[in-house]
Amino acid sequence: MPQIQNAMEVFKLLDKSNCRQCEEATCLAFAASVFKGARQLSECPKLDPEIVSQYDGGPAKARTMDQDAEEALRRMQGQIAGIDLAEAAERLGGRCDNGKLTLRTLGKEFSVDSHGRFITDIHVHAWIAGPVLAYILAGEGKTPSGNWVPLRELEGGKDWYRFFSHQCEKPLKAVADTYTDLFEDMVHLFNGQRVGQHFDADIGLVLYPLPKLPLLVCYWKPDEGMPSDLHLFFDDTAEANLKIEAIYSLGTGLALMFEKIAQRHG
Ligand code: SF4
Repeated sequence: MPQIQNAMEVFKLLDKSNCRQCEEATCLAFAASVFKGARQLSECPKLDPEIVSQYDGGPAKARTMDQDAEEALRRMQGQIAGIDLAEAAERLGGRCDNGKLTLRTLGKEFSVDSHGRFITDIHVHAWIAGPVLAYILAGEGKTPSGNWVPLRELEGGKDWYRFFSHQCEKPLKAVADTYTDLFEDMVHLFNGQRVGQHFDADIGLVLYPLPKLPLLVCYWKPDEGMPSDLHLFFDDTAEANLKIEAIYSLGTGLALMFEKIAQRHG
């Protein structure tokens, strides 16, 4: 029996009509609720009962996202033991000394030893630790080209884009709309760098969640009747350096962190 691994898998089963018969605003919101265990797949009346029965209660009975993230993290930590940290440092734009591979993530040092243990001053959230390990284990170390594209233009991004927009760009835009100055300060705090003028954005700064994975944050303030807007752009080499699930995790984790800081200091 298939077990649902993420909200995207739920979303793919739905008819995407946003008909609201399930009393959620969109199919996307319903998929997120099902994955969190708050709703059952069977509550979408448009879904074929045969599909519902295949999943038999779905992820509500399955494990939580935190459990999944923890397990994936442990698995990757185990794999770190088998790799050459010095080679990885060279490939990925880090450095290796005293048996540790050190990368800069959002301007802060983040080290991993040969047992996959983390040594860093920053709080180790699964949303950053997972992508760091995925980058070390499978990143090709491709040098960014400087061509910025939205997530949907990355090969694997087409499926993830709607979720990414909902869980990352939308909450970041809400923070930027409400606390515009603080938002800009936060991007600077995480070592946001001005690299040319991008898309005529009022705030256009490049973050480096990982050395070869730049992320361009563009925010346009409301202007002459035009509403504000916010989009994130990735280098078109991004997927060679980090798999799309980990890129999604980084983006949504970043949005969560900005929301928390804004609530605390806004
Ligand atoms: S009832 Fe099903 S198709 Fe309609 S919005 Fe909800 S999830 Fe989407």
